Amino acid sequence: MSAPAETPARGTVWFVGAGPGDPELITVKGRGLIERAGAILFAGSLVSEAATRWAPPHCTIADSKDMTLEAMTDWLATQAARHEIVVRLQTGDPALYGTLIEMVRPLDAFGIPVAVVPGVSSAMASAAAAVESFTLPEVTQTTIFTRVEGRTPMPPGEDLATLAAHRCTLCIFLSITLMHRVEAGLREAGWPEEAPVLVVHKASWPGEEQILRGTLATIRQQCREARINSQAMVIASPTLGAREWPELARSKLYDPRFTHRFRKASA
Ligand code: SAH
Repeated sequence: MSAPAETPARGTVWFVGAGPGDPELITVKGRGLIERAGAILFAGSLVSEAATRWAPPHCTIADSKDMTLEAMTDWLATQAARHEIVVRLQTGDPALYGTLIEMVRPLDAFGIPVAVVPGVSSAMASAAAAVESFTLPEVTQTTIFTRVEGRTPMPPGEDLATLAAHRCTLCIFLSITLMHRVEAGLREAGWPEEAPVLVVHKASWPGEEQILRGTLATIRQQCREARINSQAMVIASPTLGAREWPELARSKLYDPRFTHRFRKASA
């Protein structure tokens, strides 16, 4: 890798979460950095819209889809020697299934400052699309972000069956082409065939979002029929559909019988 040793770094490389697809779901801070960026490296078609919509006219913009990690860090280091603000735009939030650490380490080695701006993860956008909550009082208070094993191996103890044994909310990334493994994991953990499973394709993408509601027994066939085989979030959770349950445990915070720091019980 060609470190820009003779040209000392003057800029910061900002890893900015672009959000799940809707260009309006980037943070105000992320958008502000794009508007002032000297160079932007974006991650494929997913986030190109945000990059091109708000970048200043003379900004150098590149798509990383054909680059290796070495080529990307090289590009960022070179741009950081020229510009005060260099942006690496990533889908959703940079801390989830991105190559944040792999990209930061070589920049650290070059002495180039880095900073991260969080983004709206597709997990959150998928819940929003379906008007679902990951947590409900007395149902589950825990959410696991995971995936099933594809080409990236799962570390010991993280296979879906083990995680699903918690009966909490599972947001399963990168697994829409591996629905047979998702099903097998849930079944092995004892989830019933009628357990609700939600799939959201292109959450938040204007005009392209698709929401499939099914069960452990039906969801794979539903995905096949809808031809969903990319950019989809699978959510398995005992909270799904609670909007229509006849009975629901209430949150203590807004319960009239509950006193807390800001309000006295009234009933
Ligand atoms: N950092 C990203 C995740 C990148 S991994 C985030 O926080 O969202 C890519 C996976 O994210 C996809 O396989 C899919 O499971 C999910 N994903 C990304 N964008 C999505 C969207 N708009 N709708 C549904 N799932 C999405």
